[in-house]
Amino acid sequence: MFSRILIANRGEIALRIIRAAKSMGIEAVCVYSKADADGSWLRLADETVCIGEAPSADSYLRIDRIISAAEVTSSDAIHPGYGFLAENAQFAEVCRDSGFAFIGPSPEAMGLLGDKVSCKNLARKAGTPIFPGTEDAIDELDEAVEMAELIGYPVIVKAAAGGGGRGMRIARDEQELRAGVISARQEAEAAFGDGRVYVEKFLEQARHFEIQCIGDSHGNAVHLYERDCTTQRRHQKLIEEAPAPHVDPERRDQVAASAAELIRQANYSGAATVEFLMDREQNFFMLEVNTRVQVEHPVSELISGVDVVAEQIRVAAGEPLSITQDQISVNGHAIECRINAEDPDRGFMPQAGLIECWRPPGGLGVRLDSHATAGYRIPPNYDSMIGKLIVHGPDRATAIARMKVALEEFEVGPIKTTIPLHRRLMDHPDFVSADFDIHYVERWLEDPSVATKA
Ligand code: ADP
Repeated sequence: MFSRILIANRGEIALRIIRAAKSMGIEAVCVYSKADADGSWLRLADETVCIGEAPSADSYLRIDRIISAAEVTSSDAIHPGYGFLAENAQFAEVCRDSGFAFIGPSPEAMGLLGDKVSCKNLARKAGTPIFPGTEDAIDELDEAVEMAELIGYPVIVKAAAGGGGRGMRIARDEQELRAGVISARQEAEAAFGDGRVYVEKFLEQARHFEIQCIGDSHGNAVHLYERDCTTQRRHQKLIEEAPAPHVDPERRDQVAASAAELIRQANYSGAATVEFLMDREQNFFMLEVNTRVQVEHPVSELISGVDVVAEQIRVAAGEPLSITQDQISVNGHAIECRINAEDPDRGFMPQAGLIECWRPPGGLGVRLDSHATAGYRIPPNYDSMIGKLIVHGPDRATAIARMKVALEEFEVGPIKTTIPLHRRLMDHPDFVSADFDIHYVERWLEDPSVATKA
């Protein structure tokens, strides 16, 4: 097992990794930027190294400085967290070539699953349900048109190298499709240096459903069942829960097993999430595979009892997974609310500055993963998420009730956060009934009177 892990990240996920490492008897080293010099998580690290200025391009994205920091601190592994360099295959390769274990998949597995075309092809073999569409990147515009006629409009043009929603175009007729292929190619070429695009069916009304998987280097892969992340705004998840409400258990088990099989076929070691959209008839279509630990991993931990970050560390050290599939079952219901320093009344404008008041909630089934404290000054340079409030209960109704109490207790000021929004969402009829799709929050924010269905 490792003796020292360097954490190439910041904030709540750095804290999460420190906690996992320490609980395994491993020391934690943190790199940080000048903007984070007062970060509360740094006080818990065994050693810290400043790697540069506030902009992430000058610090958290500097591969050379992170590797130097690992060398001078005699670390033996590097955990990338999420965001920053977590899904950068070149970083994984440099870590390996420099003699540090990368706590994540091999660059080969990351490349295979990170490319949407090769990922879809592997999914086809593993029996993971995918969207109907072109098998490979399209060469000729006519190929796109033929496929669209076969599967029916609307369709979506997507970039093989896509990420962050770039290189995507929805097309409702042939004219839009021809224009969409050309502009998606240009955008993908500019953003990723890779203009390959493909076409698949576009689903209008869907829920977001994802399977947490973990694989090891001994050919094992398990899943920790699913999460529902339908409560989002502009493709940013706001609330995640596990298990997904009202999903046929047999169908769910099949999809989960197929996701684990996909990971196994990719020779994948580490945590991965296979994301799907689900239609009203409970058909599933794979969106993509995220090759990192995700923000919402705690809900899966609470229902399964598995420490996802500890398993990541274990398998990166070459050990087998500590659990087998038949030891994993769903226990109760968990919900996570992302606490962002944003002002929902002003277009979700990010709020940097001093947190004067920070009164966190507590009690049975309440978990708070956060680096924030009273007196913490939120730097303007990074993501606005300052914590995650997660609750667990025997069933969904109890989890919602506990979340409501926790959100009532939670006081943060004077900066604005998403806490008041979450309080309202916990009473939203579409959330309570879980009769929703990924655009319900947007529709409701535009016109609050639509939340009167119940
Ligand atoms: P990226 O990697 O750029 O984030 P994704 O493949 O994850 O791209 O897609 C981003 C979002 O676009 C999804 O969360 C989903 O809301 C929407 N989307 C992607 N593909 C489809 C599709 N075939 N039908 C409907 N919506 C889609």
